[in-house]
Amino acid sequence: MRGVVMHAPGDVRVEDRDDPTIIAPTDAIIRVSATCICGSDLWPYRGIEHVHEPAAMGHEYVGIVEEVGSEVQNITPGQFVVGSFFASDNTCEICQAGYHSSCIHRVGVGSIGTQAQLARIPLADGTLVATPELPPADLIPTLLAASDVLGTGWFGAVAAEAGPGKTVAVVGDGAVGLLAVLAAKQLGAQRIIAMSRHEPRQKLAREYGATDIVEERGDAGVAKIKELTGGLGAHSVIEAVGTQESMMQAIRSTRPGGHVGYLGVAHNVQLPGEELFFSHVHLHGGPAPVRRFLPELIDLIWRRKINPGKVFDLTLPLEQAAEGYKAMDERRAIKTLLTL
Ligand SMILES: [Zn+2]
Repeated sequence: MRGVVMHAPGDVRVEDRDDPTIIAPTDAIIRVSATCICGSDLWPYRGIEHVHEPAAMGHEYVGIVEEVGSEVQNITPGQFVVGSFFASDNTCEICQAGYHSSCIHRVGVGSIGTQAQLARIPLADGTLVATPELPPADLIPTLLAASDVLGTGWFGAVAAEAGPGKTVAVVGDGAVGLLAVLAAKQLGAQRIIAMSRHEPRQKLAREYGATDIVEERGDAGVAKIKELTGGLGAHSVIEAVGTQESMMQAIRSTRPGGHVGYLGVAHNVQLPGEELFFSHVHLHGGPAPVRRFLPELIDLIWRRKINPGKVFDLTLPLEQAAEGYKAMDERRAIKTLLTL
């Protein structure tokens, strides 16, 4: 099969890889219908995370089940399925509490690499959620968005306790930040402030429910949020970048008693204890337990209540994955969908 392999920062190639096979009796093999490039794939691409050896890439996927292991009971060949970036058993105490991405049996799908024609998905019964029937073609991008960026943005909004009567601010205008706006809107937030200085992203943020746009960042961004909230700060702030500046921007934009939902994979973030102590801010986040939200998100998509697929503003065949990475790295694209 063909699949994306990263050899070094900036060096992404599409190569022949071995077809995956069932290894554990709980595995499934899916034929990938569509996959995409994640903002987190840009960390190694930019050399901020090290690439020690050629690595299969990709952790977002939707596809049709080809084969299942002998212990798989709920997932059957022919089904169209959505899964997330951590395989999980959906039965342990941690999964039952809704934290599938910390499942005691979790397996990172990123190490398997779903930017490929086929993928082996571990713990298929716990990980994969089937759609009611085969989806029409136009729903495939929206379902693919649920695999990571929608589920992640949704978790951020839930972690930040976005809801009726709340003012929500979103730090970060990548796909996750934009879909956190959508999630906050769906959860009933009264006012949603998107922090973005890129016009096309501001436009999509407004379409997804943003009521205000703040272009300033850092301390100036914090001052603007305070100005918009009577000097208090937002009730709920969603952080979707993962840098020191974005994390402090989020914490300082939150009012005492408010909540920060942090989603950006933290890179060299150091929190000042004393400031945190006096902030009275709740912090909750981490790798999103997307599996918790998949049934609800698939239902909203199936009934066409939400359209998270609009974050894909570049669609390329898998063979042109290198151009997809480059376009996202240069911020020419919000998110690249790869067709198969
Ligand atoms: Zn579990």
